[in-house]
Amino acid sequence: MTTQTLAPVTTPALRLTGVSKVYGSGNSAVHALRDVSIELRRGTFTAVMGPSGSGKSTFLHCAAGLDQPTEGQVLLGDVDLARMNETQLTILRRERIGFVFQAYNLLSSLTVQQNITLPLRLAGKRADRRLLDSVVHAVGLEGRLNRLPSELSGGQQQRVAIARALVTRPDAVFADEPTGALDSRTARQVLELLRNVVTGMGQTVLMVTHDPVAASYADSVVFLADGRIAGEMHRPTPERIAERMTHLGDR
Ligand code: ADP
Repeated sequence: MTTQTLAPVTTPALRLTGVSKVYGSGNSAVHALRDVSIELRRGTFTAVMGPSGSGKSTFLHCAAGLDQPTEGQVLLGDVDLARMNETQLTILRRERIGFVFQAYNLLSSLTVQQNITLPLRLAGKRADRRLLDSVVHAVGLEGRLNRLPSELSGGQQQRVAIARALVTRPDAVFADEPTGALDSRTARQVLELLRNVVTGMGQTVLMVTHDPVAASYADSVVFLADGRIAGEMHRPTPERIAERMTHLGDR
């Protein structure tokens, strides 16, 4: 018997309800997030955009259990993050969340395969060969498993990071400017890969970006301004996103 209860498929991958985050107090208090509510359905790709200082990083950190909201609730599947202690959060982040950052954060002394399977080894689990093969195939790294990160291009290194984020079959993958360090052609390939991860594998992806072209690969874009959700756009195009961004500061 397993002690882990699986959330029903209809449960959203992630739900934030009335989330606020205040840094500091009194006169120096900064309201980084104000009453943010959002639901990510499973198998969807959502981009978060907003001007610098609008709360994107804080949003990502609260949603991913890297920081605690001052108010409100964050549910990952059916797990209430506020009820978890630091140790439980660490395990949850390792086993149920995938992270992809602008800097690939690969371990330089480990091979591609060792980097990809690191989250499993940290969790004391063996890599399921079929799952590993399917993830490696999805990111197009066949034949490179024994290379070191330094032997790969930037785009290939980001593919390793994406494979590492997928290998635990997480509830959600959080990507923070994943194409920020890549040239535009390589960036497009990585965005297409993220798109395929959602469409082909049913993963749920949340991506913070400042780039309208990157955001246009998502199913929907959530706009943040001054810590609040200032709008949402479905079936975005780069042109419509850019247009919306220019008016985000308007009141
Ligand atoms: P973004 O990612 O959109 O640039 P952030 O979430 O980093 O926005 O920041 C939102 C607001 O919260 C900003 O005003 C920022 O200065 C403030 N902020 C972020 N982190 C901290 C912190 N650790 N301490 C104090 N203020 C912070």
